[in-house]
Amino acid sequence: MAEEPVSRNASKSFLSHGNGGRTVEECEDMIQRSLRTPTVKFLKEHLEKAGCILGDKFIKAVHCDKQISGGYARGEGILVCSNHMNIQDEVNQVVIHELIHAYDDCRAANLDWANCAHHACSEIRAGHLSGDCHYKRELLRGYMKLRGHEQECIRRRVMKSMSANPYCSEAASKDAMEAVWDVCYNDTKPFDRAP
Ligand SMILES: [Zn+2]
Repeated sequence: MAEEPVSRNASKSFLSHGNGGRTVEECEDMIQRSLRTPTVKFLKEHLEKAGCILGDKFIKAVHCDKQISGGYARGEGILVCSNHMNIQDEVNQVVIHELIHAYDDCRAANLDWANCAHHACSEIRAGHLSGDCHYKRELLRGYMKLRGHEQECIRRRVMKSMSANPYCSEAASKDAMEAVWDVCYNDTKPFDRAP
C-alpha cells in the first residue's frame, strides 16, 4: 500500500532548494524515536495481542524513487521513504498509517488487498486514525478550506493510495470508498475513538 507523500511539496522543494529529505541512517533513528511515542506503542501492543509479533526489522527506512512517503506489504513489513521525510512528525504519521494497515492485515485473515472494498476500508481507517488529515497538516500542504476538510482530505488520500492498486480503477475505487465509508470511518479499532 503506497502512500501519497506526507509533504505535498516534497518533490518541488527537492528540485528547487536541494532539500532532499533525510538519509536512510537519519530516518532509521527517527523510526526508533517514533517507536517510543504512545500511539505507536499502543498499536504495536495491539498487533501483538492479535497474534502478530513485529520483529526488529519490521519497519525499515529506504530511499524511494517514486513519489510516495512509505508503504506496507504483507510478509515484508513497513517501509518509510527517507528521502521524502523531513521532520519527526512525518515519520510518526507514516509509521502509524502503515501500522493500521498491518493491524487490518493481522486481524482479518481473509483480507484481500486486490479487493477494492477491503483496500478502501483500510485506507479510510489509516487516514482517519493516523491524523494524516489533521487541519494543521492540511494547512501545511496548502489546503486552506477548513469546513469538512477532514473527510474531504481522507477521501483524496484514499483515492491517491488506491491509484497504485492495479486491481482497482478510479471508478471502482470511488464506488468502493463510498460504499464502505460509514462503516470503516466509524471503525476505530484498536482505539476507542480516533486518537
Ligand atoms: Zn495507506
